[in-house]
Amino acid sequence: MAKVPVLKNYINGSWKSSSSGDTFDNVNPANTSEVIGRFQQSTCKDVDEAVEAAAAALPKWKNTPAPQRGEILFRVAEILVKRKEQLAQDMTREMGKIIKETRGDVQEAIDMAYYTAGEGRRLLGETVPSELNNKFNMSVRMPVGVVAAITPWNFPMAIPSWKLIPALVCGNTVVIKPASDTPLSSYNLVRICEEAGIPPGVLNMVTGSGRNVGTPLMDHPKVNLVSFTGSTDTGSIVAAHCAKQMKQYSLEMGGKNAIIVMDDADLNLAVEGVLWGAFGTTGQRCTACSRVIVHKKVIKKFSNMLLRRTKNLKVGNGLNGKMEMGPLINEEQRQKVLNYCNIGVEEGAKLLTGGACVSGKGLSKGFFFEPTLFADVSPKMRIAQEEIFGPVLSVISCRNLDHAIQITNDSKYGLSSAIYTQNVNSAFKAIENLDTGITYINSSTIGAEIQLPFGGTKGTGNGHREAGTVALETFTEWKSVYIDYSGTLQKAQIEE
Ligand code: NAD
Repeated sequence: MAKVPVLKNYINGSWKSSSSGDTFDNVNPANTSEVIGRFQQSTCKDVDEAVEAAAAALPKWKNTPAPQRGEILFRVAEILVKRKEQLAQDMTREMGKIIKETRGDVQEAIDMAYYTAGEGRRLLGETVPSELNNKFNMSVRMPVGVVAAITPWNFPMAIPSWKLIPALVCGNTVVIKPASDTPLSSYNLVRICEEAGIPPGVLNMVTGSGRNVGTPLMDHPKVNLVSFTGSTDTGSIVAAHCAKQMKQYSLEMGGKNAIIVMDDADLNLAVEGVLWGAFGTTGQRCTACSRVIVHKKVIKKFSNMLLRRTKNLKVGNGLNGKMEMGPLINEEQRQKVLNYCNIGVEEGAKLLTGGACVSGKGLSKGFFFEPTLFADVSPKMRIAQEEIFGPVLSVISCRNLDHAIQITNDSKYGLSSAIYTQNVNSAFKAIENLDTGITYINSSTIGAEIQLPFGGTKGTGNGHREAGTVALETFTEWKSVYIDYSGTLQKAQIEE
């Protein structure tokens, strides 16, 4: 058996063991007998050391000209491109999703690095006229300070990159705590940042649990901003801690996303989009489609088409390029999904296929679950309201577009939505009335591109967005500057 590598924290430019001396195992969810790496079970002492390093590195990094910061991030992109395949394979082994999707996850980090590196030569502010003569008004961006990045396991490289790269180009220093199910991809990204020339202390990584690392990190008095992605339950804990300390925080949280299929839709196209949205990443995307709301005139035909395709999905180890769906992330998540399937049956929904763990055929050592389809789901059932985060799709009937929009919006979340229709009026009505941060027309709920804002309304977020140029709003503070070159005391708003 190959020796399991022990992978360390990255603090102040050095790779260090935790002060606890303990490690935890990162296992392959498709085959639990494979341990991918042993990571540091860190403590608040390690967190303190990392934050102190980030605080000490801040003055020099924020005074490094932004174009130079951008050039280092451009090199990060170049290295990611060269190592894409290896990084994707590492990710499939630690997270389970199929290799095509982990290549996409790395590609998102590449896109983010190329796009955001250019901000080093922009970081645009405003110049506006003054109401007085001989006076110049402008606004400039300043870094916020030390950023704590706390990330989930479902996009192990893309999500860390969405935080680190904009934070760094803006002149902040960072401590990242990745999810304990997928620390390897963050480790790989941090190593690449080191290789690209990010100076010691500017970027630090501490691995370990939410309680032992996440909490002391967000509570550290020298952390100025917490950038969190994860569940709404954890996000509300983060919000409460940060609010008490008057700290800035941005939250990207859960979803219960719906696709509307109208009676004029191209049903073949809609089936493909629904399958991709519901079963891609084994349903473990914040933007996954877990409700499909279908016009009553076509629901029978559509459900039959969807059922046929769902039954034929190939489930297995994601490193096998023929597979269409990998395992769930861990046993706890698999039990949660199973429990929701039982709840669906008890609530009176009709189980069309799936609803059970997959074993046999070489899959018994992984957390595999059947692609699951429920029909006759009513909008108030728990399976139609709560985030399951697994391959479980509910088919709900609607009378017309208004009814479909009403069902879609009847959710505590507001991340992504989609509509399949050939009618331009219906499409624009949906864009206007769906209460979500993202809406797709004739496409699935997943597949965001990094050059547009990403995030959601209601329980999905706290008004911030990641990606695009708006990410700069999270990672910078505005300074308004007034330059009076009149040589006299000029008073704005005051009549003399
Ligand atoms: P999670 O909330 O359990 O964990 C997220 C991160 O927070 C992990 O690093 C975890 O260790 C840490 N954490 C846990 N408890 C903490 C605490 N008390 N204090 C500080 N940190 C703590 O979420 P998860 O299970 O890793 O991810 C799945 C969730 O993430 C789903 O709800 C999904 O919808 C959401 N998600 C949202 C987006 C988005 O952009 N909106 C993207 C991906 C995932």
